[in-house]
Amino acid sequence: MLDLIGDNIWQTTGELPGPTLCVLGGVHGNELTGIEVVKRICADFASSARGLQSGRLIMAFGNPLAIEQGTRFVDGRDLNRYFTDTHLLGILDGSIEESRAKELAQVIQQSDITVDIHSTNKPSMPFISSRVDSEHLQVYQWFNASVVLADPNYVLAGEPATTDEYADRMGRVGVCVEAGDAKDVTRITSVLQSINGLMTHMGLVNEPGGEHFTGHQVFTLCDSIVLTSSGFVFAEGRGARSFESVLKGDVVGYAGKVPVLASADGVLVFPKLPEHQVLDKPLCYIAERTQ
Ligand SMILES: [Zn+2]
Repeated sequence: MLDLIGDNIWQTTGELPGPTLCVLGGVHGNELTGIEVVKRICADFASSARGLQSGRLIMAFGNPLAIEQGTRFVDGRDLNRYFTDTHLLGILDGSIEESRAKELAQVIQQSDITVDIHSTNKPSMPFISSRVDSEHLQVYQWFNASVVLADPNYVLAGEPATTDEYADRMGRVGVCVEAGDAKDVTRITSVLQSINGLMTHMGLVNEPGGEHFTGHQVFTLCDSIVLTSSGFVFAEGRGARSFESVLKGDVVGYAGKVPVLASADGVLVFPKLPEHQVLDKPLCYIAERTQ
């Protein structure tokens, strides 16, 4: 049994009390794996074939309009930067994203654990974006990834702004799963198995436990490269994928004619496609290996 509890938000509940898990897909509308995972879990629980033993499972499509358009976001506004107090507690730009963030924040607040499934727009191995502690490991250990990207200093957006960061600051546990390249849909089954493993771990379903993964490498975001009015082009061979190694002083690209250098030894992450680059916003980040 599946109940519609909001715009593209569904829930199913078990007969016994228990924790709440929220699974989000399509916060960026072109990231197909998360969208398909939410669709399939919904289809599973909509039929009587599968039911929750205990607790509550909430599933939502993050940005229905962007999903409909098959685009990362609408008019350059990134829904996954709207989970800040200025957007959630007031009206800053009155956008659809702002009201959608408010609606999703309600369900994230009610959930003990939120898993938000994303993909990258350039090739990348699957990885986890999360705080690194035992509470979060209890969640991300079920996903087939060997790397965690941490952002304790909020380099990504300058303040907590994403769904997982919002869950964390509400005293819940939020984890973002980056399932690989946005166009690559070969990991849908693996992500579904991971969600099942997590649901079994939480006691929501009584099914065989999943495989779990530990011993992650940890990278910590330490700097960003911001698009200025001079423009930006990556240097030859740079910016093609996430987790490309750089050394401090390497030329990452050019802002006009001025070389832009890596500020630390580490890896480049989230290099943005030209069409996703926004003036005064980061177009790439540098992360240092910390574990
Ligand atoms: Zn995304």
